[in-house]
Parts: sequence; C-alpha cells; structure tokens
Amino acid sequence: MLYNSTRGKDSGHSSAYVIKNGIAADGGLFVPETIPVLTKEMLDKLMGMNYAERAAEILGMFLTDYSAEELKKAADTAYSADRFGAVTTPISIAEGNSVLELWHGPTSAFKDMALQIMPHLLSLSLGKCGEEKDALILVATSGDTGKAALAGYADVPRVRIQVFYPSEGVSPVQKLQMATQDGGNVSVCGIKGNFDDAQSAVKRIFTSTEAAKKIDGEGLFFSSANSINWGRLAPQIVYYISAYLDMVAAGTVAMGDAINITVPTGNFGNILAAYIAKVMGLPVKTMVCASNQNNILTDFFTTGVYDKRRPFYTTSSPSMDILISSNLERLLYFTLGAEKCAALMKELNEKGIYTVDEETKARLAKDFAALYGDENDTAETIARYFKAGYLCDPHTAVALYCADKYKAESGDNTPMLVASTASPYKFPRAVLKAMGEDKGSSDFDCIDDLERLSGTRPPKALAELKNKAVRFEGVTDKADIDAKVYAFAAEKL
Ligand SMILES: *Cc1c(COP(=O)(O)O)cnc(C)c1O
Repeated sequence: MLYNSTRGKDSGHSSAYVIKNGIAADGGLFVPETIPVLTKEMLDKLMGMNYAERAAEILGMFLTDYSAEELKKAADTAYSADRFGAVTTPISIAEGNSVLELWHGPTSAFKDMALQIMPHLLSLSLGKCGEEKDALILVATSGDTGKAALAGYADVPRVRIQVFYPSEGVSPVQKLQMATQDGGNVSVCGIKGNFDDAQSAVKRIFTSTEAAKKIDGEGLFFSSANSINWGRLAPQIVYYISAYLDMVAAGTVAMGDAINITVPTGNFGNILAAYIAKVMGLPVKTMVCASNQNNILTDFFTTGVYDKRRPFYTTSSPSMDILISSNLERLLYFTLGAEKCAALMKELNEKGIYTVDEETKARLAKDFAALYGDENDTAETIARYFKAGYLCDPHTAVALYCADKYKAESGDNTPMLVASTASPYKFPRAVLKAMGEDKGSSDFDCIDDLERLSGTRPPKALAELKNKAVRFEGVTDKADIDAKVYAFAAEKL
C-alpha cells in the first residue's frame, strides 16, 4: 500500500518512508491511498487473539512493506505484560459507559499505546529505506508527549531524541518524569518560555535546510514523533477494533451491532484513528468529539467555521489545550479530497480561519457529534463519577461529561465506548480539587492523598518518581535552542 500527501503534491511513498520522514514535502500529512476493509472473517479471526497479535495483524493491513514477523516481534515487545500489565487496554464500566483505559503503559498516558511500538517501526524503516544516517528526533512538549516519546525511544539503536519543554509550563510530576529519564541517547531541556516558543523553535529547526546540513555532517537527519506522523496514528486504530471485540466478548454488544465512541480531543489524532476504524468497517455509529473550554472543534462541527483567532485557555486538561488540531487535515482530505484540503489549509495559514459548505458540514455530522465541557463541568464530573465508584483524570472527565450529555440530548442509547487517556495519578491535584480535598501540599503528597481517599493504587513509575535521580537540570534561553540541538548532535554517544 502506498501513501499520499493530504495536499496532493507528494505521492506514492512506502509506509517505511512516511514513518521515517514524518511529514510530506508539500507540508501535508501522509494518508494511505485506500483504507483496507475489515471483513466479518477478519473480525472473527481477531477475536481469538491477544492484543499484540491483533496489533500485528491490523498494522499489517496498513504497513505492507513490513513483514508479519517484524510486526509481531515489535508488537510483542511493545505490548508486553511488564510494560502494560496483564490486560493492555482494560475496559471499566462506569455509569453505563464502557471506559477504555489506554493509560496502563510506562508513562501513564494513552500516548504510550503508539509511542511504545513506533520506535521499532522507525528503526526498521531505516533499513528498508537504505538510510545510512541515524535519526535525531526533536520534540516540543507540553508534558505527556515528551515523556512518552522519551520512554519509547530510550536506547533504541540508530536513534537519538531531544525534548524541549516550557520550564514553568508543565506539572511538577511531568517535569520530574522527564528530568529523570534513563537512556544513553536522550536529552531533555527546559526552556524559558511557553509551549508555543518551544514548538515554533522546533518546527523552524526541523524545516531549516541549514540545520539539516549541519546535522548531516554528524551523520544525522531530523525525524518527528508527534501525531502528524502516520507511525503514531496507525497503532491507535488497533485499540478501537480490539475494544469492540472485548465488548463483544463481555456481552456488552453482539458481533455486528454498532457502538458509539467518545474521545477527549486535542490534536484530533486519537479520534481520527476511531474514524479510520469505522471506515474500515468497524460497526461504529457516531463518534463524539469531546473538547474542553478550548472548544474550536465543537464550533467547527456545529457551524462549519474553523476560526483559530480566539482566546487560549489554560485548563485542568492541558493535553487538550490546543487551537490548531493538526489531524483534522486528514479528515478534511478524506471528506473533500486533496485540492480542497490544500486550499483550506492555505486559508488557515494566511487568515487563521476557513469555512466548509453546508453539504460538507452535513456529511461530517453523519459520523461526528461535537460537544465540550468547561472547568466546572470537568470538576463536577470527576466528583460525580467518584461518588459512583469510578476515579478518572480531567481529560477522561471531559469525555464522560460529553458522552453523557450527548446521550441525554440525542436519546441515542447505542452502547458508548469512552476513551480514557490518562491515569488520575498524573493529575492528582486537579482530581483532589474536584473532590474538594486539595490541601495545597506538594504533588507527591497529592498522590498519597489520592491513594488514601480513593483506595486505588498509583502506577508504580509515578509512585517511585520522587526517589529517582535527576539527570537533566538547568533551563535554557529560547535563543539558545539551536545551539542545544547542534551540541547534542555533535555528542559522541
Ligand atoms: C494527547 C492527549 C489527548 C489528546 O489526544 P489527541 O490525539 O491530540 O486528540 C487527550 N488526553 C490526554 C491525556 C493526552 O495526553
């Protein structure tokens, strides 16, 4: 299977090439030229498999230049019990919703689902593409992506990874998670500035021919680990299909009957994976796009206007604080084709706003509903679900709020699967506050308080964090980011 750019000017690449390069030469995102079909026979076959086997099988439908053995070995390593626990993606039932817990991996956020296997796919791609240089992955992060990427790429041969985060813009737990990262091929830098400063610097360096030339001299090329890379998207399709089969096995739905899916959304990557599963033939009726106060997607789906010229809110669900949802570009491509998609992206770039016509809006409404919850709704939902016996993090709370609201407003009682994207222990203060229990103590005390109050156990890696040695200290000026990159590239590892 070959891959094309959403903007139509960079076509016909292998899956190894698109995973190695991340973004298309015309600035677009890579998409498969056709979406493979999930037949009834295939679903029956997957039913009898464990998670790693399902992953290898489904990825094989998209990554056709990887062998079945390569994918099986990668999936077995990535989704092993010592990384994810006995059940890779358990489903809890809470208030009538099936809650798909995607955060049982090494860094307690759903991004592990992709970032544990993607390094294997990248490593293999170097050989497949005849690439002689090693990859230097640059990441700008507001918290979760940085740690998940570090954990995935630590000590992976022929790859080095450097992460930049806003020194004052991540939680103390997130900061320590990154600063204590093991691995001989990793570098972590706090910067004086906000996430946008880190992001713009990384994007500028990533696309600079001068920078590329400089690191070429060190035998390196730049690659990316964020969700514009198809290597992040493809592994996310797997868990929707797997969860459906688990719901069938549990008797929540009969094979062939439809479910609805609610996804707490930021960059639109996770929910796009659900959409692709639906296009493949998974019985999904409606996908509910759940946003926080940064409700640009709610506005887009309900009015047809995408307008990023608006205030930015810092919320208790920071991984959804986003005004440019990059992966929406892929949905526009699948709905409108490359030419129109490219024109809309040009408008977004130049004017900060674009509008789709009524017909397009109506077509999107066949697959998607869009709702949002503000900070009050989020806190109330955490408290309400806790009373009902389920502890969730703020991102998941936004999704549960929107799922319940969708059900009440639409009267649609199709079984609802809700994606849960982070452990509540990753955001202990916000969760305690919602429960009326924040005593203003340190984040580590919050973890202990949450454990005591809820009777649940924190993930081992988070509980052990306070005893780990800090490896990366100090804060870099924005102006010195380039120098940091060149210094890391020049290091002999
Ligand atoms: C990244 C993230 C999201 C948003 O996922 P997208 O694919 O960007 O839409 C939601 N919740 C958590 C906890 C995340 O880390």
